[in-house]
Amino acid sequence: MHATLFRQVRPFGGPVTDLAAVDGVLVAELPDDARPAVVEGGGRIALPTLVDAHIHPDKTAWGEPWYSRRPAGSLPEYVAGDVELYRRRTGPIGERAHRLLAHAVTRGTRAVRAHVDVAPAYGLAGVTGLREAADRLAGKLDVQSVAFPQHGVVRTPGAADLLTEAAREHLVDAVGGIDPAGFDGGSADGREQLDLLFGLAERYGVLLDVHLHDRGATGLGPLRTLAARTVAAGLQGRVTVSHVFCLPELPDGELDAVAELLAGAGIALTTVAPSAHQVLPFRALQAHGLRVGLGSDGVRDSWSPFGNADMLHRAHLLGWTTDARTDQELTDCLELAAHGGADLLGLPRADLTPGAPADFLLVDGECPPQVVVDLPERELVVKAGRVVAEHGALVG
Ligand SMILES: [Zn+2]
Repeated sequence: MHATLFRQVRPFGGPVTDLAAVDGVLVAELPDDARPAVVEGGGRIALPTLVDAHIHPDKTAWGEPWYSRRPAGSLPEYVAGDVELYRRRTGPIGERAHRLLAHAVTRGTRAVRAHVDVAPAYGLAGVTGLREAADRLAGKLDVQSVAFPQHGVVRTPGAADLLTEAAREHLVDAVGGIDPAGFDGGSADGREQLDLLFGLAERYGVLLDVHLHDRGATGLGPLRTLAARTVAAGLQGRVTVSHVFCLPELPDGELDAVAELLAGAGIALTTVAPSAHQVLPFRALQAHGLRVGLGSDGVRDSWSPFGNADMLHRAHLLGWTTDARTDQELTDCLELAAHGGADLLGLPRADLTPGAPADFLLVDGECPPQVVVDLPERELVVKAGRVVAEHGALVG
């Protein structure tokens, strides 16, 4: 039995109490024969650790020398920047991914869904590198992997074979996609790319997670097709669409209709809250029963110098872009970062109640909404009842 007693903590900023964990799970009371390790909480707030539902750890230059970006305005230009940065990297891709994901753990992330580029320019190096990083972080971070065809599968010969190999050999949990109609040069409903993805999902049991940046009909067409094909293939609950910039621009009535369609297909969505006009209206979507996760997206990569893989900061950005003002609105942002991602990844919620995973972080502060605004240091990060980070550094 591995038992730990975390003394003098304040779950969600409430009264001071103790949290007890046995074998990775919170318990109401420790068994009589437990000989717990004792960790002093010092009256700090305990909050759930967070889930990054969309991050690209293979592309990052985090911890590497500063990379100066040239202007870029189209997807092909950004993709060319990825390849250039990939060729300039200073170490193995597993090292790069580990550096970023280890940092995320110290900021209170318990799990990630990580997209890694799969294209002839890299082969499966991203998939292998992510696996190495995930193995090194076992017990500290849960990693779901997505083989992401950033360069397209119709426009880039060889990409489909690599995706197929990743799925067939069970090297990844999910296969990704990108703008089937707009970027990948397919027909208006994107069926060429979707034929491949759904074929892989049905044949090899992989999840799907499709990047959809296209707006207007170029985005909505494939989105509707995705919903229909998900139902036809019986893949409800196994398909995610990320970004979905065609949704925030819809008037309310049309948004409701599309949300109903997606909910009926059990499709989940992720947002990275990039701006007020591109952030998903997550409350309206959740009201229809949709699962919505929050993520970092690229972190200090060729696309953008910004990002830090800190999901508490991402909750803050979600509050900023959605104009959060009330305590409830700010708390909603924290909950999306914690529970939204857990639901999307199929993990139990870390809600600090008996029976929940003993996954939480400790911060100095007054209450959750104030924490979302002030972003205090993560003093302690606990995963499965064990301290995995302290004062911003990994433990063990
Ligand atoms: Zn992405």
